[in-house]
Amino acid sequence: MAHALITGGAGFIGSHLAETLLARGDSVTVIDDLSTGSFANIEHLTGNPRFRFAIESITNEVVLDRLASECNVIYHLAAAVGVQLIIQQPVHTIETNVMGTEAVFKAALRYRAKVLVASTSEVYGKSGRVPFAEDDDITLGPTSRNRWAYAATKMVDEFLALAYHREHGLPVVIFRLFNTVGPRQTGRYGMVIPRFVRQALAGEPLTVYGDGSQSRCFCNVSDSVRAIAGLAEAPDAVGRVFNIGSTEEVTILELARRTLALASDGDDNWQQQIRFISYEDAYALGFEDMQRRVPDISRIGQTIGWSPLIPLDTTLQQVIDFVK
Ligand code: UDP
Repeated sequence: MAHALITGGAGFIGSHLAETLLARGDSVTVIDDLSTGSFANIEHLTGNPRFRFAIESITNEVVLDRLASECNVIYHLAAAVGVQLIIQQPVHTIETNVMGTEAVFKAALRYRAKVLVASTSEVYGKSGRVPFAEDDDITLGPTSRNRWAYAATKMVDEFLALAYHREHGLPVVIFRLFNTVGPRQTGRYGMVIPRFVRQALAGEPLTVYGDGSQSRCFCNVSDSVRAIAGLAEAPDAVGRVFNIGSTEEVTILELARRTLALASDGDDNWQQQIRFISYEDAYALGFEDMQRRVPDISRIGQTIGWSPLIPLDTTLQQVIDFVK
């Protein structure tokens, strides 16, 4: 029987993963310090006898050790996330993402637990070659622009995971999440879809950064957690890196338009309802955005037969219903 420990399990993605694992019969323990997660995300699971939680930081070695000793697989999702947070709190981001991950690997090694490590499409940096494949070269911006600190910390996490695997035989699987959306995601840390939905429902203009020609592929969180849960069960996945994301590409301007159409039940008076904001005003001076971000998902498709199933409009509707 699998007993899973989910670090960051009270977060947006972690709480959905907890539900998916419980539904397939796993026992699940969550550790989360509620820095960006919320107890409300897991409260409905607390009645399940196979579910437990600890409100604590992964840097508390005593607690982490005890929880690791009781599980055979760790899903390591705890991290400082979101572009806005990274820009506002660079020290916290770097320390959490590097030292927290190191603590998880040390604890996992003690008990030979398998570790599924959450990484991010941010590690592809400003590569202009789409779609992004796992073994592509990576180009980051200079250290004077702290957006790139996030990617750099996640790259260190990946290097460390693969090093633990090669040097100590620790079974690890790395997954790079591309833009992931769905109910419970908060717009507080910059994420575009919950922000757009809240703005649309409040009758406020949608804040499109730059000219809105930049594009993303948004994957429904239930598709993403199905991929993560599947990777955990695939012996072939160990020691490898996988993209998880949708390939349905949309510009941010088109996303704003579709959000308005769905939130306002077909009212297409959208041009007055969008406010363009320069990157300088939206973020700090010198911010660099990625123009396009599309995953190559052939590797995970070949390994576990996964592909995303839920179209963007369905996801937008779910987020609208959730926010309402
Ligand atoms: N964005 C926007 N308005 C907002 C928030 C974000 O236009 O209120 C843009 C942002 O500049 C980026 C895209 O939406 O081009 C996705 O942003 P998000 O922070 O959700 O994820 P990212 O892909 O940047 O990690």
